[in-house]
Amino acid sequence: MKTRQAYRFAVDPGPAQERMLRSHAGASRFAWNWGLARCTERYDAEGRWYSAIGLHKLWNAEKKTDPALGWWAENSKCAYQESFRDLDRALADFVKSRKGQRKGKRLGFPRFKKRGKARDSFRFGAGVMRCSGTTVTLPRLGTVRTHEDTAALSRKTGDGSARILSATVSRTAQRWFVSFTVEVERDIPQVPAHPGTAAGIDLGVKTLLTAVDHLGRVITVAGPKPLRTSVRRLRRASRAQSRKVKGSANRRKATARLARVHARVANVRADALHKATTELASRYETVVIEDLNVTGMISNRKLARAVSDQGFGTARRMLGYKTAREGGTLIVTDRWYPSSKACSACGSVKAKLTLKDRVYQCDQCGLVMDRDVNAARNLLKLAASGAESLNACGGTLRPRPARHVPVKQEPGTVNAGKTGTAVSQGTAAA
Ligand SMILES: [Zn+2]
Repeated sequence: MKTRQAYRFAVDPGPAQERMLRSHAGASRFAWNWGLARCTERYDAEGRWYSAIGLHKLWNAEKKTDPALGWWAENSKCAYQESFRDLDRALADFVKSRKGQRKGKRLGFPRFKKRGKARDSFRFGAGVMRCSGTTVTLPRLGTVRTHEDTAALSRKTGDGSARILSATVSRTAQRWFVSFTVEVERDIPQVPAHPGTAAGIDLGVKTLLTAVDHLGRVITVAGPKPLRTSVRRLRRASRAQSRKVKGSANRRKATARLARVHARVANVRADALHKATTELASRYETVVIEDLNVTGMISNRKLARAVSDQGFGTARRMLGYKTAREGGTLIVTDRWYPSSKACSACGSVKAKLTLKDRVYQCDQCGLVMDRDVNAARNLLKLAASGAESLNACGGTLRPRPARHVPVKQEPGTVNAGKTGTAVSQGTAAA
């Protein structure tokens, strides 16, 4: 079956290519702002805005007549076109969010993108997009050297098992990246390699993750040492930046440094998560993780927490597609499921548990256990109930691309008796 996957490579452009990358990012930003201004004008006059196609037509007419837009031909037409598409989507998302048809944080009206403030990014949706072992080839830009090996993707495109659909080019802290969206032909096993196996996973603040499997084994992934060092460096860079006078050259330098450290932490964490999630998804049929209100969490001011929350979204996404391609199942609990506050032995729920409480102590049955292990054990319980409910539905759920099965729980209950109805809700939505 066909699935979509992203391949991201850091690139090493030459000076001329770097100028072109900046020019394209500028063109993309310009097109967004230009389109947004046209949409706002029309909305004020007629109560509606332009679609991406409408903007594209308008742009094609105006770029030839307005001498101030004479530079348009310096960049690929994709840079403009894809920005209009993004704007179209942003406007549609805004309307959906206002009507309550969109999950997550309420979205504001799209805003103008400021140079230096907005992220440098643009996309190619058509044209020559290729990669060989050490290079990528893009429309207009030609062949750009990559910082890392691209052989894994070039092998797949070479034998026809993968097709590049689009390429997004972006800059993070002075480094340019190309991210290909690729359609991959993949054999999804009809039967998972290890049927009947399950693991509950608690994504931690101190440790990368703690898992408990169906045999009761505890697996702790501490996270690589560079990650812990980086978090320390991040804290230092963040403090240094906040001390500099706003608008000063020193502030700008400190901000750039902070961005570099942030990018490094994210990379190290993503690497570690890739290793851990690949391993877990291949070893267990069912994997259970808790849901967190990620959008709400990012605003948390505590640094370590904020960093681990970013990793949380990444981990959930990775586990989602990795379990799916192994023929397994990922169960994401409802975010009110008290995985940390409940006792994994007797099921009683604590009223309060702070992040500082590293050891779980049950007042009812006297259980004393590492906090993360206790949470992972509670999550594992849902694997059993979730799997039973799936079988009760007739076991017709396999194969399916991404199987996020939300297990709804009432706040304060531990008994996963309600999962039957919840799973069918999840399947209906999937
Ligand atoms: Zn207890």
